Amino acid sequence: QGECLVFDKEVFEAIEKEKTRQEEGIELIASENFVSKEVLEAQGSILTNKYAEGYPGKRYYGGCEFVDIIENLAISRIKEIFGAEYVNVQPHSGSQANMAAYMALVEHGSKVLGMDLNHGGHLTHGSSVNFSGKNYEFVSYGIDKETGFINYDEVLRIAKEEQPKLIVAGASAYSRKIDFKKFREIADEVGAKLMVDMAHIAGLCATGYHQNPVEYADIVTSTTHKTLRGPRGGIILAKKEYAKKLNSAIFPGIQGGPLEHIIAAKAVSFYEALQPSYKEYIGQVVKNAKTMEKVFQESKFRLISGGTDNHLLLLDVSAYDLNGKELESLLDEVGITVNKNAIPFDKLPPMKTSGIRIGTPAITTRGFKEEESRKVAELIIKVAENQNNPEVLESVKSEVRKLTSQFPLHVEK
Ligand code: PLP
Repeated sequence: QGECLVFDKEVFEAIEKEKTRQEEGIELIASENFVSKEVLEAQGSILTNKYAEGYPGKRYYGGCEFVDIIENLAISRIKEIFGAEYVNVQPHSGSQANMAAYMALVEHGSKVLGMDLNHGGHLTHGSSVNFSGKNYEFVSYGIDKETGFINYDEVLRIAKEEQPKLIVAGASAYSRKIDFKKFREIADEVGAKLMVDMAHIAGLCATGYHQNPVEYADIVTSTTHKTLRGPRGGIILAKKEYAKKLNSAIFPGIQGGPLEHIIAAKAVSFYEALQPSYKEYIGQVVKNAKTMEKVFQESKFRLISGGTDNHLLLLDVSAYDLNGKELESLLDEVGITVNKNAIPFDKLPPMKTSGIRIGTPAITTRGFKEEESRKVAELIIKVAENQNNPEVLESVKSEVRKLTSQFPLHVEK
């Protein structure tokens, strides 16, 4: 590599501090994870120097013989994981994967039915401040106020009334299983196409802990950095008939040169996801979430939908006279990272919210099992109960440090 002529101390120091934050804190953001050293190395490799517009074997640049090997490996591995006919590993992000999927499925301005953002949907599922809400006429379904579950009869009723060209299933803050087969039936009944955004639950779908949407959807999109435990990025999986449209939607439609260093890291993470240890990992992610559910059920927190079937929990925190933002800050102070999250039918604005979202993918990667997960949930309850007691908060901070020091993250092999 080139000689280091200058040394950017400011960025280096901030990275070191972030490393310490990750090492010493308890990471409960449901969309985050810790990648392996191998994934990190591929991502930080010299592949970042290479331009490779186009697809393997059909590039617009010379010297692509090695990045072709890498991209083909990423493609064949992810195909194997999900049993997909076609995949595209080039989307720079989940949002870009969704943008390309919409482009391949419907005309600009078409009506699309997606999950309400306030009920767990993602920005790219029709938010008015997002390209999706600007380029398409989005209508939404939500969750049932009583049960906290998606009510499929209600989805069908809305679909019949609205006659969308496309239905989007998938969420960012829904703690229950999603019945993709039912969504397919609803789509077929109204003559709509079906897209599944499995970003959050991709790891569960890959290992049999959740229905595999590839069997039911026309197009499936995902991020690679959540439960899938790869680098930050996106992927698209689809039936063969969409190959041409999807390829051109990504390049030259919305992207130029693919990030071959990220694609290499994706390939490495897909290799890891094909190993038996990854299935064990996802099993533990689910067990840890279930363990936390039991602890929270005994507290004043209200679990949306009453619990969880996957890697996340959504808690209404209002019974502790707190809003989501306040609890997020209190937990930050003791070294526990969560995000404030709107709960369905929330009366508070998005910058405050009545809830927090908690996920187990990251703590499970660092080795936490049921015992530690129980402890983490107990600490969260302790913080909420003792929000005005600095001594107790200080003691929680020490317990967090003790717990994380027992499970070091960045160990050199
Ligand atoms: N889809 C869902 C369901 C998500 O939860 C997210 C990210 O949180 C995305 C798409 C977007 O991914 P990205 O942040 O990579 O654009």
